[in-house]
Amino acid sequence: MAECIFCKIVEGKIPAKKIAETEHAFAFADIHPTAPVHALVIPRQHIATLNEVQDWSVMGPLFELAARVAKESGLEQSGWRAVINTGPDANQLVFHVHLHVIGGRQLGWPPG
Ligand code: AMP
Ligand code: ZN
Repeated sequence: MAECIFCKIVEGKIPAKKIAETEHAFAFADIHPTAPVHALVIPRQHIATLNEVQDWSVMGPLFELAARVAKESGLEQSGWRAVINTGPDANQLVFHVHLHVIGGRQLGWPPG
């Protein structure tokens, strides 16, 4: 997707703080962290939102890498949150599926 900022990050065309990567997924630091740990985990292939997912096997590797990032960030015991915002009511801003890994502080619930 030519104009997708997260596709450009996967392709190395714009800079990002890479945290980890696998054959199917890429993890990098959120540019505006909302917690001491705030990573984004994305599929290498462009999928705009969860509404467009056809092959659900793409989601497994995202959660696998998210759990690895959380563990390697020291969040296994303290806890962490995996969030995927979808569409306007959820405030999705970037239209390439991304899983937020958030932790390192007590998180509020329910979300506002
Ligand atoms: P969402 O509201 O779920 O679409 O969240 C998009 C997230 O992407 C926000 O937390 C942004 O801070 C983050 N973001 C946007 N542009 C970049 C970028 N170039 N590098 C890293 N994170 C970004
Ligand atoms: Zn994309």
